[in-house]
Amino acid sequence: MAAVAFTQEQISQEAHRLYGLLGCVSKSKSAKWSLQDCLAAAPLTLEINRLKKEKNAVVLAHSYTSPELVYGVADFRGDSYELSLKAKQTQADVIIFAGVWFMAETAKIINPGKQVFIPAGHAGCSLADSMTGEDLARLKAKHPGVPVLCYINSTADVKAQSDSCVTSGNVYDIAQKMPGDELIFVPDMLMAQNLSAELVRRGTPKKIISSGGSCCVHDKYRPEHIEALRAQHPGIQIVAHPECPIEICRLCDYVGSTKGMADFVAKTSARVIGMLTEFGMVNRMEAEHPDKTFIWPFGVCSYMKRNTLANTLQALAEPLPGQEVQVDPATAKAAYKAIEKMFELTK
Ligand code: SF4
Repeated sequence: MAAVAFTQEQISQEAHRLYGLLGCVSKSKSAKWSLQDCLAAAPLTLEINRLKKEKNAVVLAHSYTSPELVYGVADFRGDSYELSLKAKQTQADVIIFAGVWFMAETAKIINPGKQVFIPAGHAGCSLADSMTGEDLARLKAKHPGVPVLCYINSTADVKAQSDSCVTSGNVYDIAQKMPGDELIFVPDMLMAQNLSAELVRRGTPKKIISSGGSCCVHDKYRPEHIEALRAQHPGIQIVAHPECPIEICRLCDYVGSTKGMADFVAKTSARVIGMLTEFGMVNRMEAEHPDKTFIWPFGVCSYMKRNTLANTLQALAEPLPGQEVQVDPATAKAAYKAIEKMFELTK
């Protein structure tokens, strides 16, 4: 890859721009981003941002990737739903999706005529990879006629056999709109338990039939982690994602999607907030609310962190075969219907 050479002045200016965004963001549990870190990142962010213009490309970055991507080069940041919407709306010729495979696959399904690349190549997801299309076909055969909702964290094959996709932000409302008092919800068994409890709370209970998948980041939290946070930080408010076990969700002050958590953090008067979610989301909150303190016990998605500035540049400049996302047209057509249904039911 022949990269454009930038002057020392351009690199210094870019490093200071990045430092202004990342200086209050944790690089690890014990260190924040330094100006040196930003100087190292600057030549890459400069070149990526130059190539985006040259190729009419857009970079979508999930909040769980790294802050140098989210704040250095992304045109849009957010959760699966927000980024799916941006993928639907973009006028760009090329989509670079910094996330995991099912997300980039969703962007390709929505935009079959565009080139979609994922910097990390075939980055999986413990949840999406827990269920194949054949698994869902067997489950449906055991429960004929029962409506099927699939969490967006699922493969194209699973989406293709579902009545509608859902995200953590719209799952409860869409579940309520499904006919009947039974529902197949796959592939997250923990979110299925949270869905069942929420439908009871709303006075519209349904029998939820699920599969055995879980998020390997959110399924690790236990009540003792919450007890420790409350003991160490009196007045703390704790937020969690509905991919967490139900006993965790019952003990938190707020449970919701990535966007929901961001909205809660923006509104709460608490100065200290416990984040039972992925580290990248903690980084986003640190960047956007430097006046607040965020406590994070643990939780890193190794799949998301496979996206880097270096492989984002590669995907833009000279993509490797494994970085381009392709979906079988028949599967894409069926999966598109489930994704469109979600947009329709979310209005
Ligand atoms: S955080 Fe969990 S659900 Fe999200 S991509 Fe990683 S493994 Fe999958």
